[in-house]
Amino acid sequence: MKILVVNAGSSSLKYQLFDMDEGKVLAKGNCERIGIDGLVTHKCPGKEDYKSAAELPDHRAAIKLVLSLLTDEKLGVLKGVEEIDAVGHRVAHGGEKLRQSSVLGEEEIKYLETIVELNPLHGPPAISGFKACKEVMPNITHVGVFDTSYYSDIQDYAYIYPIPYELYEQYKVRRYGFHGTSHRYVAGKAAELLGNKNAKIITCHLGNGSSITATVNGKAVDTSMGFTPQDGVPMGTRSGALDPTVVPFLIKKLGITAEEAEKLINSKSGLLGVSGISSDCRDVGEAAANGNYRAQLALKILVHNVKKIIGSYVAEMNGVDALVFTAGIGENDRQLREDVCKEMSYLGIEIDEAYNKSCARGEIADITKQGAKVKTFVIPTNEEFMIASDTQILAKK
Ligand code: AMP
Repeated sequence: MKILVVNAGSSSLKYQLFDMDEGKVLAKGNCERIGIDGLVTHKCPGKEDYKSAAELPDHRAAIKLVLSLLTDEKLGVLKGVEEIDAVGHRVAHGGEKLRQSSVLGEEEIKYLETIVELNPLHGPPAISGFKACKEVMPNITHVGVFDTSYYSDIQDYAYIYPIPYELYEQYKVRRYGFHGTSHRYVAGKAAELLGNKNAKIITCHLGNGSSITATVNGKAVDTSMGFTPQDGVPMGTRSGALDPTVVPFLIKKLGITAEEAEKLINSKSGLLGVSGISSDCRDVGEAAANGNYRAQLALKILVHNVKKIIGSYVAEMNGVDALVFTAGIGENDRQLREDVCKEMSYLGIEIDEAYNKSCARGEIADITKQGAKVKTFVIPTNEEFMIASDTQILAKK
């Protein structure tokens, strides 16, 4: 079965074509700068990489280009579009109704349109990406895989905010959680490695956006992102959790609007805001190694907050069997992993520092110190594979 996975952002459309029978990626790429000055990159294992400027006024043009590349005699891997059996769409927000991966029909899209205000950044491009794909591939199954759905079983006391309850009832203000597909994938892998599907697992997805999730028995019980992906640990440009009154204080003090304040905590904070250097952890790490105080401080704040959330989840779950690092920082930044895991032996978390420094990147690694009670793993995430396998299951039904 051949499954096309599509991840439509506001000005981009990423894709991967999977051959599920062979368990491999046949092609992948990205249409960027949609609506600006389009650019496409396309890769097929064993073939030359393709990169070119392209006329990409909208998502419809992007998906048409993707299909022409996939079926191109020289660059492609398919004889015709009809070889694609189903399409899996990454959708950030499924609201309260779309609690699991679902076949996308008219009803589902209508519902997604009603919750766009919960997800103003990613909702509209996901919907237009779906509509564009449906138009050019009308006769196959399209499946939505939602970042929020991994959290649909968390308890009310973990997702209701302690503000007037009517605000939840009226406006659906609650914790939703994000990055669920990534957490589900790496928590599943960790449970497999432990040989225990009932394990208590803490997964740290640390990238440009970061979140931490606690999983028990294969189900998420809590997560650090909340109503929006703004909550939790500091990120590239997002502050993460703040005393909520900081925002109205700044609105008054700086004479800015609510939208400007949101931009401040969303795009100018986190590693970038504290270091004043960059949102990229590599740049901040380099400056820190050269003695830059604010870069060092930005990383210490990140480590401090990751540790705090890990500790709180151990308390919530009454223990932990495995700690997992994933995403750009979690998979690659060995120093940060070491710093997070330092002085957590009381919780049973101890890593083999030498192996943590030398283990190969891009592969699963068990960095646990011999004899430690809790396993610590590095597990490369693979959200696209998760989307493809959910799509395969639903397309077969
Ligand atoms: P992601 O959003 O998962 O793509 O992760 C992006 C983040 O991962 C950026 O902050 C990068 O600096 C960080 N990252 C990627 N590679 C490395 C690396 N080799 N060392 C440290 N951080 C890295």
